[in-house]
This record gives sequence, C-alpha cells and structure tokens, in this order.
Amino acid sequence: MKRNIVIIVAFLFSQFVIAQTQDAKMKTFIDALMKKMTLEEKIGQLNLPGAGDIVTGQASNSDIGKKIKEGKVGGLFNIKGVDKIKAVQKVAVEESRLKIPLIFGMDVIHGYETVFPIPLGLSCSWDMKLIERSAQIAASEASSQGICWTFSPMVDIARDPRWGRIAEGNGEDAYLGSQIAKAMVKGYQGDLKTNRNIMSCVKHYALYGAAEAGRDYNTTDMSLTRMHNEYLSPYKAAVEAGVGSVMASFNDINGIPATANKYLMTDVLRKQWGFKGFVVTDYTGNNEMIAHGMGDLQTVTALALKAGVHMDMVGEGYLNTLKKSLQEGKVNQQEIDNACRVILEAKYKLGLFDDPYKYCDESRAKTDVFTDANRNEARKIAADCFVLFKNQNNILPLKKSGTIALIGPLADSKENMPGTWSVAANFSKATSLLAGLSSVAGDKAKVVYAKGSNLDADAAFEQRATMFGKSLQRDNRPAADIIAEAVNVANQADVIVAALGEGAEMTGEASSRTNLDIPETQKDLLKALLKTGKPVILVLFTGRPLTIKWENDNVPAILNVWFGGSEGGYAIADVLFGDVNPSGKLTTTWPQNVGQVPLFYNHKNTGRPLNGPWFQKFQSNYLDVSNDPLYPFGFGLGYSNFTYGDLKLSAASLKGNQTLTASIAVTNSGTHDGKEVVQLYIRDLAGTNTRPLKELKNFQKIELKAGETKTISFSITPNDLKYYYQTNTGSNNLIYDWEAGEFEIMIGGNSRDVKKGKVNWIK
Ligand code: BGC
Repeated sequence: MKRNIVIIVAFLFSQFVIAQTQDAKMKTFIDALMKKMTLEEKIGQLNLPGAGDIVTGQASNSDIGKKIKEGKVGGLFNIKGVDKIKAVQKVAVEESRLKIPLIFGMDVIHGYETVFPIPLGLSCSWDMKLIERSAQIAASEASSQGICWTFSPMVDIARDPRWGRIAEGNGEDAYLGSQIAKAMVKGYQGDLKTNRNIMSCVKHYALYGAAEAGRDYNTTDMSLTRMHNEYLSPYKAAVEAGVGSVMASFNDINGIPATANKYLMTDVLRKQWGFKGFVVTDYTGNNEMIAHGMGDLQTVTALALKAGVHMDMVGEGYLNTLKKSLQEGKVNQQEIDNACRVILEAKYKLGLFDDPYKYCDESRAKTDVFTDANRNEARKIAADCFVLFKNQNNILPLKKSGTIALIGPLADSKENMPGTWSVAANFSKATSLLAGLSSVAGDKAKVVYAKGSNLDADAAFEQRATMFGKSLQRDNRPAADIIAEAVNVANQADVIVAALGEGAEMTGEASSRTNLDIPETQKDLLKALLKTGKPVILVLFTGRPLTIKWENDNVPAILNVWFGGSEGGYAIADVLFGDVNPSGKLTTTWPQNVGQVPLFYNHKNTGRPLNGPWFQKFQSNYLDVSNDPLYPFGFGLGYSNFTYGDLKLSAASLKGNQTLTASIAVTNSGTHDGKEVVQLYIRDLAGTNTRPLKELKNFQKIELKAGETKTISFSITPNDLKYYYQTNTGSNNLIYDWEAGEFEIMIGGNSRDVKKGKVNWIK
C-alpha cells in the first residue's frame, strides 16, 4: 500500500514537473514572438472576422487574404473544406510578416458530416461514454478537414421551452449538465498532441438559457445564489475538464452584458475557477453592446477587453478601436498583451507553430469523414436518445410483417433529420424515416407513405421554420385533400406511424415560440388518422418540450425522437421494430401547457405548497391546471418494465465526513432486456437559505436482462450536500458549504416516482 502511494506521488510529481517545463518552454517562445510584434499585429490576433466562403485559389487576393497578410486576423470560422483552409493558412504562414498561423473554428455542435442527435436529444441518453464518443467522432471528422476549434459544448441550462436554443443544450439540470460538459470537452480535446483532437469552446457564458420569456438574446436578471447553484456549474465543469476557450453570451446579466461582465469573466472564470485559456465574444457580441445601451463602439470594446474578453468575433471592434483606446488611456498595453498572449498560447498548445498544416492532412480528409463505422456508431447512439412517452397495450415494438402506413410531413425529409446547427452536414446523405423504416423492414413488411399535411398551414410561418436548406416541399392543395389522400393510404395498412412535430429550424438560434403545440394542421391529420380506428404511433420530431396533452390523452403510443442526426431514420426504425429497446429519459420537464412555463423539477417549496390534491384555495396552484408536468424530468419508458424495491440507507445519523450508502434493488420485470437510468435525488430539509424540493446528485445507467435484479448503490458524502448560500446578515458574500440537519434521500427511475428515506447529518 505504502509503496503504491509512493509510486503515485512520484508519478504525479513527474507530471507536474513536465507540465511546468512545457509551460516554461511555451512562455519563452511566446515572449520572444511578442517582442517582435507591433501593436497592430497584437490587436490583429484578437480579430476573428466572418470569412464568408473562401474560394480556393483566390484566398490570397480576397479581402480577408489582404487582412491576413497584414497580420490583422487571428482566426477564421465556418469554412468547410480542407483545401480552402490549407490555402488560407498558406497566406498566413507564407505571406504575413511574422507567419503566425490562424486557428480555424466551426460550429461542430453535434457531429460534422456524420451527425448525431441534437444535444438535447444526446443528453437524454444519460450515457457519458456515448456522449464523449460522439464528440470524439465529431473531432476526428472535423480535424481531418482543417478544423482545430469547435464552438461546443453549449451548456446553457434552460428551463423555458419557448427558447429555441433549448435544443442545443443539455436540459434543465446543472449536475447532469456538468457531467455532460466534462464528457464533451474530453471527447473533443482528448490529447491535443494528436491531429484527431480539437480545441473546445464552452458556451455561452453565462446564463444565456435564462432569457426572459424565452425570447432569444433577452435579458437575464438573477440572484447570485441561483446563478451559482443552478446555472454556472456546467461551465465550471468544462473549465475543470481543461476546456481551451470560452464564448461569452449575448445577454445582459443583472445590468451588464456578459461580454463586458467583469464579475463573470474575471472574478468567477479566472480567479475562482482558474481558467487559463481565452474568451471569445459571440457573433458581433461586442458591437451589440451599443444597442444594449453601454456606449459607442470604442467604449464597449474597451469594456469587453477590460472585463477579460480576448477575441472579437465578426464585429472588428477591437481591430478598429483598440489602438485609439490605448492612446487615450482607455485600455492599457498589459490588457492587449494579455489577450494576445492567451490566443497565441492556444495556437501553441494546438501545435500550430510546429506545423500550421497539422489539421490539413488531405489523405485523412478523404477517408475519415462520414465513414460506415462512424455512421454505424451514430445510428446506435441515436437509438439510445429517443424517449418513449406512452405505449398502451404494448403496441410497440412493431412486428416486421403486414403493411405499415408512414404518414406525415416529417416522414420523408432527409433535410430535417440532422436538426438545427448542422453546419457541416450534407443533407442529401442523411437518411429519412421513410428510407430507414423501409430498409429495416426489408421484404418482411410493406411500408406505404403519404405526406398528409404541410408542416404548418401558414406558408409564411413554414418558410421561417425551414431555413438553412431544411425545406419541406410545400403541397398547395387544400389541407382536407392532403389529409384525405393520407387516410386512403392509411386505410390500406395494419398500423399507422405518424411522423409529426417541429421542423428542424423551429428550434435553434432565434427560433423561439409562444405556442408549443404541434401545428394545428398536423393535429387535424392526426385526428383523421385516429378516426380510421387503426393503431396509431406518434413519432414526434422536436427540438424542445412541446405541449402534447391532447396527444397523450388520445394517441396510444408516442415515441419522441428529437432530431436524430444523419442516421436518425435507421435509428427510429431500429427502435420501432424493437431491435433496440428505448432507454432515453427526459432532461427537461414537459409542461401540460405554456402557462406553466418555466416548469422544472428542482423548484422551491413556497410557504404554501400544494400538499394533496389539486385544487386548493390559498395554496400555491392554478385555477385551471394542476401543478404537475405532463412528463417529469428523468422520465422515459422502454419495452421492459423496471420495478424498484425499498430504499436502504447505511445509517440514519451521520457525523462529519462520513459516507452514507444508499442502495435499492432494481428489477427488470418485463420480457425484454433493457437499460434503466437509476437516479439519486437529495433534499436538504432546512438551511440558511431555502433549498429545492429535490436535486439530482448522481445516476447510473444500468443494463438488466429480462427478469434480472441488481442492487444499485450510491455513496453520498458531505460534498454532495454543499451549496452556495448567503448569510442573513445583509452581506452578499457567497459561502459554499453544507449545513447540518435532516436530508431526504430519494432514488427512482424519474424525478417524480422515487423511494424515500431520511438521515440526520451533523458536523
Ligand atoms: C451563435 C453561436 C455560434 C456563433 C458562430 C452565434 O450566432 O450564438 O452559438 O457559435 O454564432 O457561428
């Protein structure tokens, strides 16, 4: 034992020494380089202009080429194609004075050409290995195409499904969000020495998902305790995982836009969390502070630099004002030098000074993208992200026999399968549900198809909802005729699969909605399909929680498939036919109606909680709808059935740093082997500050054979009980600690249905 400890300590010490030596080498290199740089060249490194598309062969003569030669560009983003990137890099390292390489970024959000489910979907797998693997594959494909930097993961906690960008994050829970943040950063960055890994950029720091009324880019005003307890930890987790860069968010936070927010950028990010990489604005984030009301361009860019924001995306505010600000004493040389240094350090760590073409291996570019192996993994990953909401009389899985009618505007649209933010995807290579279902059915079952309705009756709305090449061929016949045609097709079949919901661009940036229903025209189609009397399975496409109470009450089976990525069509078919048993669990609460929003599981109790049945006068509830969600956080069914035994706690009272073990027997009482996410929640029953009704503290995704029982145990220490609080003394200081008292321990298969026990924990 002693010997092992000595070996471990010696190993850690040697790692520390190696890191120190490498840091010292990097410092010497960058010191020497910066000595040669003019002020203009330093400011140039802070510039991340919008490149537009670069035409190979003309890179040197383009406007951007001219700026690169003058040393006025630090990096470029969203250029697709290794030949283009190589050509631009050549200008930087052959035609600029100091030959400093550029970094090339891209929004590789949920895959490059092999596209995985949208992040909200991926989060529903609750499988960190799988999520890490998706990021690894994305990095490997992107890196073979010249990309060395991805604007991912997006870890903004979101509790308001009106906000379209809820699709890009990991849901409403900070603990789960932190685990996912770590997995993604690890997957992308792995070992940056290899050319298969790329630098990650965690975004949008901070609180972008708390936009008032779910309207994109909107203001956030939040207490420090809520901020630290419920929103910040996923960004912190990314920093702890070694993320190379951070993107500032667009929004105003407590009166100061994130982009100029010194508390966030310096006090929290650098001083508290120890972040050493660089911060980039979001797209024109600096310039937008003029509209926020923070002053003119020179003023706002000086504010951003002083706050600790280093790179300026698109707006060129730094490029055009910093020299003047320096001359006028509005910023100082040290601030410009610091910003330049952290960007150069990132390039150094990526190995670009050793080999600026490290990511431009044309042979890999030809063989490493959209490979069969990557697509197969994406298909498996997607199938683990779907969430089964309802399966009355075990109507699913479908038999591979007879005739299946596949109906709906989303059934035959490969363009919509990748979902929002699929910048590098080649839509023509994605597999539609029609193609996937037909292929998996093979010659055993016949698949017949009709579109049945447009995405929305309103053509102008449909146009707004199908941007970026995600178009759906609009059918200009009267809605009744389109439905009648579909009913005819459905009447030939034994079972109906209705592919309905949102188009891919109904979520994503600037795609907020106030009505979260499935569009009315699709609902009319669904009603007509139900009227045929045939069994109907709703395959629901969406990027956000929708309000589907009517559907839940009336449709026998509902499988929520989010946007499953380029292989989504196959993956949905795998689940519908039971080749894969669905195991996804929600990471957001699904409300009954929009009026309940924001609705999230880890809310506070109030002084007048509704204890007992709804409705009660003078208790905290609504006249017209209960407080219950339609589907709670953590919920999802499968083709197996999991039953939970009694919760066992290793002690009823604990002291100090002891460990509590909470265990429970979980049985697969169904007839299919399956996966279950066992979830641990804790409630702190009394504190200096009020505490949520429950908080997710741990989980395990397990696999059980039909009939099998396993005892699942969680270790709980005082670390799991800590939270940020303020004393009731008028001081704003935050304390991060645990407080002695009673704690409720809960374990279950979702946040609502849990087995409970109680412990008393003293200091
Ligand atoms: C988005 C970011 C994205 C950036 C670059 C912005 O509009 O908010 O998430 O990374 O554009 O494309």
